[in-house]
This record gives sequence, C-alpha cells and structure tokens, in this order.
Amino acid sequence: MDTVEVEDSCLGYELILTENDTSTPRCPRGPTLLFEKVSKPGQAGRRFYACSACRDRKECNFFQWEDEKVSEARELAREAQNRKRRPPFSQQQCTARFLRFISLPPDAQKFCRDCQVLVLADETEAHGAHALVPAAAERLRRPSGLLRPLDNKKSNAQYLFTERTARFLLGALAALGYDKVLCVGTPRLHELIKLGNAEGKAKPTKSLLLDIDFRYAQFYDQNEFCHYNMFNHHFFDSEASRAALQDFLRESNGEKVVMVADPPFGGLVKALASSFSRISQTWRTQQRVEGGDVHMPMIWIFPYFFEARILDCFPFLTMLDYQVDYDNHSLYKHNKTGRKQSPVRLFTNIPPAEIVLPEEEGYRFCGVCERYVWRLNRHCAECGACPSKDGRQWKHCTLCGRCVKPSWRHCESCGRCALPDHPCEGSPGRQGCRNCASPTHKRRTCPRKRVGSKSASKKGHGVARFKKKK
Ligand code: SAH
Ligand code: ZN
Ligand code: ZN
Ligand code: ZN
Ligand code: ZN
Repeated sequence: MDTVEVEDSCLGYELILTENDTSTPRCPRGPTLLFEKVSKPGQAGRRFYACSACRDRKECNFFQWEDEKVSEARELAREAQNRKRRPPFSQQQCTARFLRFISLPPDAQKFCRDCQVLVLADETEAHGAHALVPAAAERLRRPSGLLRPLDNKKSNAQYLFTERTARFLLGALAALGYDKVLCVGTPRLHELIKLGNAEGKAKPTKSLLLDIDFRYAQFYDQNEFCHYNMFNHHFFDSEASRAALQDFLRESNGEKVVMVADPPFGGLVKALASSFSRISQTWRTQQRVEGGDVHMPMIWIFPYFFEARILDCFPFLTMLDYQVDYDNHSLYKHNKTGRKQSPVRLFTNIPPAEIVLPEEEGYRFCGVCERYVWRLNRHCAECGACPSKDGRQWKHCTLCGRCVKPSWRHCESCGRCALPDHPCEGSPGRQGCRNCASPTHKRRTCPRKRVGSKSASKKGHGVARFKKKK
C-alpha cells in the first residue's frame, strides 16, 4: 500500500515559540507566529512573523520580518484590515438572533445556503434570490448538516466524522465516565453530545466547542461555543471566552473532563502542542493540581506519520490503532485495504488498555502490550511489541533487529531496510547528508536534526508537505 508520509527534510522554516505579548503583530486570526528560515548550517536564519492558521498566501498574506520597523500608517491599515475581517455579528448578537429565530413558526425557520446564516423574519426579502432551506427542530440541532463544510484544502478544510467514528468516540468516553467533553475543532462530536442529551437516554454530558469556524456561534451560546484559534491559543472574544473555558474546566462534584481535538493536518504540531499545554494548564489551575507533570486527559486526533513529532512535544501520549474516518474524505475510509485505509489515529494519555476498540471491526486485545490493536498488527516476540503503525502487517528483519514495513527489503550497501528502489546512500549523488547537504556526515547523524526542528517545514511558512511513499 502507498501511505502518505511527511517529507523529512528540514531545509525550510522552523517555528519559534514565544510568549504572546502585545508586541506580537496580529493578523485577522490573532497573534501571528514567529518562524525562522533554516538556512545554511551554522548560520542563524532570518526570523519573520506569519499567519498562525493559514498557509495559503491568498487567504492571509501577512508577512513581517522580526526586526522590521512598521510605519504607523501601515499599522493603522493593518488594524483596519483586521477589523474588517471580524465576523458580522458578535456572539451576544448571535444568541439574541437565535432566540428570535426559535420563536418563529417552524415553517418560517429557514437557513440561507448562500450566506450560511439563519434568516430572521424581516430578512427574508434580502435573501429573496438565495437558496433557503428549512431549519426547524431536528435540523436546527444538526448544524453540521446545515453548514457547508469549509473546503479550503490548505488551511481549514472540515472533515466530519462518520457515524461509526463519532459513535465509537462517544461510547468510549461514556464508558470511561467523562461528564464533560472539551471539543477542540470537533463540531460534529459536540453536536452529537448535545443530541444525546436532548434524547435524554443517558446521563447528560456537558460539551464546549472551541473552533475557528464562527458560523457555529449562530447555533450555540457563549457556554457552548468559543471562537478560538488552536494554533496560537487565541480567543477572539477574549474575556467572555476565557471565563467560559475556565468554568468548563472546573471539575466540581467529582466531574471528569476530557479534551478531544481534531486539528487540520498541517505541520504545526509544535504550535498545537503549545496551545493544548495551555489548555491543560488552565485545567490544572482550576483543579488546584500541583506540579506540571499532571496533564488533562486528552485525545488528539492526527495521522500516524506525525507520531514522532507529537511524542517529541507530548511524550506522555500513546498512539492507538483505531482508524478514524470521515464522511467527506474519500481517501480516509475505514476497512478499505491498501492506501484507502485511513491514516488518522488517536493520541491519548488515557491508559490504552481502558479504551476498548471494537472487536467486530477487526480489533483485538494484545495481552502483552496491554492495548487493543488492529487485526493485521501481529505481536512480534523479538520486538516485544505489536509494531505496525500503518495498518499493514509488518515483518521482522533480523539484521536490523526490528520490524519494518512489508514493502521494505534489507539493503546490504545501506545496512538497513528500505524500499527496493531506494537511492542507496553510497551511490553517486547520494553521498553526504540528505538533510543539510554536508558531505561530512549522513542524515542519521546530522547535527541540524534537532528536536523540534522537525515540526516546522518547507514552503509557505511551516507547511508539512505530503509525499507518497510505499
Ligand atoms: N472531525 C471533526 C472535524 C474536524 S475538521 C468533526 O467531525 O467534528 C477540523 C476542525 O477544526 C474544523 O471544524 C475547523 O473549523 C477547525 N479549525 C480549523 N482551523 C482551526 C484553528 N486554527 N483553530 C480552531 N479550529 C480550527
Ligand atoms: Zn442569503
Ligand atoms: Zn520485530
Ligand atoms: Zn533490515
Ligand atoms: Zn546533515
């Protein structure tokens, strides 16, 4: 099978984490992030600020060198631009509109597909030529069905969970006894939790959605939705949202809270980890937990090939074999074989043995590893683990002393397993380091392969580029 892997080259940009302060320049998505151009070895790259959330220059072309002096005129123009990009309504206005909307007779409750808004009685004329669809009762409770999924491939495409995955997540969280779910970029999960509560079958679960998609503010009030950017931990409506989050994270009367995040799969793992740390820190303060090594329970949904980068940032997480799939992503489907298998996994600090993966879907419990694994992930006695990451059955190489992908062969000249048609390290044009091009060492021992440098990458400020490998 072909899987999608991140190109492991770091001649690009590195994200520099800083404390956001008032001097950090802002774009419409809040404080920008600082990147460093990785140039020649031994040379410090020039640093610049760019948009935290989008890698498409057409969407946000913010760019500023760190040491650049910005004129007052440009500063003002920027502020005007940022104001212009604010949502048309405040959260409070949205709530007031929602209350007016639900007091309309059911057959007058309409949603405009063209404008992506709920239409009030005195606004129908303005949307006269638009596609209006009914939005009463059940439909109003399923905003993810009314709203058109954002499909911007580069920054915030919305991939909604299939029924199968959503049910699995809800079931697992309920079985673990969580009373509150902080949904970070998981609007469909939030919606299903609320639907479940409305049906009144089980014990109600509280849910708070943090998402950059402001259209959701039309359907939820301040205690259910915060307009939030998870790449810079920015709350657009800062005071009210911060208070809502703090409130939510307080576990009173023995309540248990968990975070479930499904971020866009760009390369900014380090930025996400920094935001999630700050959420976890807020949770600790609310619980008056002492010590920085206690972390809020979390499930971070991300492709398996980011495992190393995620563990670099959060060594306390474990990757589970469960394959997450999406309604509107043809490539990421469950139970397909070959490259059609979803590469998306759960990274969690909940003990893996406690998360039961469904047997009827092909998962089993490995008593040695004490976790549930995919059926093709056979336990290897030599490695002492169920080694497969990508859903295929891996095989043990005695020369390498570890399990490798089934398509790999042991290469004598490289002294390791690789794809049969790989460029050998000894062959012409392949000498030296593939990371920094230095002729004095190999990539394996490259001094520029520092921890953390992997999480930024090339082109378009910090985008992970995907490359097909076998
Ligand atoms: N599988 C999830 C949706 C994941 S798609 C579900 O079914 O609920 C990614 C989500 O993250 C989208 O809802 C998108 O609006 C949100 N998002 C994208 N960029 C974001 C950012 N910078 N900050 C916060 N949320 C973001
Ligand atoms: Zn309209
Ligand atoms: Zn092995
Ligand atoms: Zn080998
Ligand atoms: Zn090197």
